Amino acid sequence: MLYTIPHYYHKFHCVAGDCTDTCCAGWSIMIDDKSKKRYWRQKGGFGQRLKKSIDWKNSSFKQCGKRCAFLNRENLCDLYMEAGPDMLCKTCREYPRHTEEFEGIREISLSMSCEEAARIILGTKEPVTFLTKEDEKEEVYPEFDFLLFTKLTDARDLIISFLQDRRFISSHRMALVLGFAHDLQSRIRSGHMYEIDGLLSRYRNESLHSIAEKKLLGRKAQAESRFLKMKELFSIFQELEVLDADWPRYISTIKKLLFEKGIASYEENRSAFYQYLKENPEREEQWEIWCEQLLVYFVFTYFCGSVYDGQPYGKIKLAVVCTLLIQEMAQATFKMREGRLDFSEFVHLTHRFSREVEHSDLNLNALDRIFISDQRFGLSSLLSVL
Ligand code: SF4
Repeated sequence: MLYTIPHYYHKFHCVAGDCTDTCCAGWSIMIDDKSKKRYWRQKGGFGQRLKKSIDWKNSSFKQCGKRCAFLNRENLCDLYMEAGPDMLCKTCREYPRHTEEFEGIREISLSMSCEEAARIILGTKEPVTFLTKEDEKEEVYPEFDFLLFTKLTDARDLIISFLQDRRFISSHRMALVLGFAHDLQSRIRSGHMYEIDGLLSRYRNESLHSIAEKKLLGRKAQAESRFLKMKELFSIFQELEVLDADWPRYISTIKKLLFEKGIASYEENRSAFYQYLKENPEREEQWEIWCEQLLVYFVFTYFCGSVYDGQPYGKIKLAVVCTLLIQEMAQATFKMREGRLDFSEFVHLTHRFSREVEHSDLNLNALDRIFISDQRFGLSSLLSVL
């Protein structure tokens, strides 16, 4: 088995009681079957407490005031304190580690939904690299398309190299990867897999950067159109399952800050934000690095999963749209803070976004569907808002 992790992976340590948020509140914690059986077998007072604190029908821990029934006042887990780490269910044992599974391969990342992990990911200044390790374990997935997977991993390497090319601004890098993924998708759709190597070589050619720049310049949306398109991007949330009961209020405040006073006010705030970045080169560089780390995070986590549905272009749209939405949320926060945005605020809003969007199969499936088939998110439309 081959294991891949981002280089910052081992920097993570749960800060438990010192956590600014906690992963044990605000959403349901699902219990795997093995742990559920083990919990059911527990005897004595602890067994009684387990029996009362679990929603056996939905396989999740019950909540008290939106907090896990085992989360104590010090924000520590009573189940862990009482019975040790072995008694934790799979979700609690692994979180915030996220694993993507392919035949003979595990790609493990940290989820940005944990604020501490988000701090590590976004605080990484250097381009992310990936470390691999192999062991003797073997497995076979009968239907696994290894040819497609190999093409996808080659494509992802190239996409990540584009996203980490710091000679170009992040919107330019996003345009390039959208264009590439669009072309890749057409080869897959038409069954011309043998053309993918040629496509990769063509995109490795330096001059494509300037083509991407020209394409982008030609498609920039007018202020009014951009305003309407960004509003449209935010309408995605209406199609998603709500995980945190506070989320609708939070995102509606963000939308009000951005859009309620109309185009002029939206554009004024946007210009002020970019002026704020420009007036301090370090700040501007920092912003570009945050955007790069977001894009690389989404691409590393989801892109190769398209081996199961043959839709890599949808995964790149997901990476770009999620990054754009987080950028807009940052601009709303900038307005709320009367003209400033610091690292901890950016980390906070990113982790809220991730927590709400990434931890629901229903939401991820809905986004797949939207980015594969919804005309609102076509190439021209997305290029125009970069
Ligand atoms: S959110 Fe992250 S740091 Fe906080 S308690 Fe959970 S795993 Fe630990």
